Amino acid sequence: MMEKIYASYLDHLQGIHALNTALGLLGWDQETYMPPRGLHPRAAARAHLTGLVHDRVVVDHFGGLLEELGGLELPEDMAASVRETRRDRDRAVKVPRDLVTELAQTTTLAQQTWARARNTDDWPAFAPILAKVVELKRREAEAVGYQGEPYDALLDEYEPGASAADIEPVFAELRTGLVELMGVIHAAGPRHDDAVLEREWPIDGQDRLSRQVLKAMGFDFDAGRLDTSTHPFTSGTSPVDVRLTTMFDPLDLAKSLYSSIHEGGHGLYEQGLPETLAGTPLGQACSLGIHESQSRLWENQVGRSRPFMDYLAGQLKAIFPDRVSGLGPDVLYRAFNVVRPSLIRIEADEVTYNLHVLMRFELERALFRGDIEVSDLPALWNERMTADLGVTPENDREGVLQDIHWSFGALGYFPTYTLGNIYSATLFDAAGRDLPDLDAKIAAGDLAPLLDWMRTHVHAHGRRWTSSELCRRATGTGLDCTHFLDYLRTKFGALYA
Ligand code: ZN
Repeated sequence: MMEKIYASYLDHLQGIHALNTALGLLGWDQETYMPPRGLHPRAAARAHLTGLVHDRVVVDHFGGLLEELGGLELPEDMAASVRETRRDRDRAVKVPRDLVTELAQTTTLAQQTWARARNTDDWPAFAPILAKVVELKRREAEAVGYQGEPYDALLDEYEPGASAADIEPVFAELRTGLVELMGVIHAAGPRHDDAVLEREWPIDGQDRLSRQVLKAMGFDFDAGRLDTSTHPFTSGTSPVDVRLTTMFDPLDLAKSLYSSIHEGGHGLYEQGLPETLAGTPLGQACSLGIHESQSRLWENQVGRSRPFMDYLAGQLKAIFPDRVSGLGPDVLYRAFNVVRPSLIRIEADEVTYNLHVLMRFELERALFRGDIEVSDLPALWNERMTADLGVTPENDREGVLQDIHWSFGALGYFPTYTLGNIYSATLFDAAGRDLPDLDAKIAAGDLAPLLDWMRTHVHAHGRRWTSSELCRRATGTGLDCTHFLDYLRTKFGALYA
């Protein structure tokens, strides 16, 4: 009896998963290969499919199934799956269908409006549709409901169980530590160690390097792809179909290399989720914070580490034999780790990066409390950049228009970047304790043991626990910025001593 109900439950989820797979591919295609004039029919198709997903989630029959399963003694895995699906459904039933489709339609259009406005530095062209997106998200937050403040309803979508009030003290502690460390670095004087990288790096070589590094990380190209897009991203519809994108700049090797490693970290997580549970909560990522912990861990703790430079120097020599004179591992290490307050978040170094995120978190929170309006954003943005980082954008392209997120309705998303950085350090520290020769392995380009550790402790568990619980079980520590601050102090203290 129980098996029969559970089988109907899984069958229903597979229908939702099929629609989400189609939506995922439409979204991926929109950012990679879709011709510009394809936008309007694409927006309509996505809105329609999003409506169908909503219908299938909220349908009474499915609610009845979940109700029945909730009343049964289920084995632990099944109980966790049902609990998480009920959570998703409880949220979905509160949001009116017309709001769901209007959001899908508006955000698809807003993405293109944003891309144009950013290219031409035209904030007034983007502001009206952003105000519309914010208005719709405010309605969504009110519909979903919250205990503390409206922002919590949005944050919960990306970081289940987290609230602004919970993460605020952790972020405050982090800010204090970062500002202190920036002071030490500033006192040491400016460094331009990255000037050695200023040379032309042919795109075909950069592409080969990205693929080589991704293979070394364990990314399976029979279950994934690498393409290009303006804003690199990862889209996973199942563990055996994971799409990464990167971006190439002939004068900037770091851009493609670290975009590829970052997205590769996301891709490894997607490929490591249990394949047989695809489309069910235990086959899905725990949270965006944990997702980002994986991308940042490969990008920074591995990809910007001194041991990795031994491996990288060898790869560069093989791929660009006539362009790497003078680029030994120590030179590369300093070049890829210059700390310099800058305007663009995705190009920021490890020390200043989170100040960019904390600012966005505070602006978004104020927006949803009603303390500020969309029209206030450019000026507030510039004021905060000056106060926090000592640099002031000369235009909105370098300021409030730089990120794609708000255009696709991802409000409440930014804090997951900092949560991810915090978790990445805690996880890497624990992996290092379990794998004592990790540095030597990284230097040799043998990254499989680290991936195995992540597979076992993080990827295999899907959404079984909240992010802080997953981290606590994997490492003994929950959400706590101690390891992250220690890591930064040790690394940059030595680099800037
Ligand atoms: Zn990421």
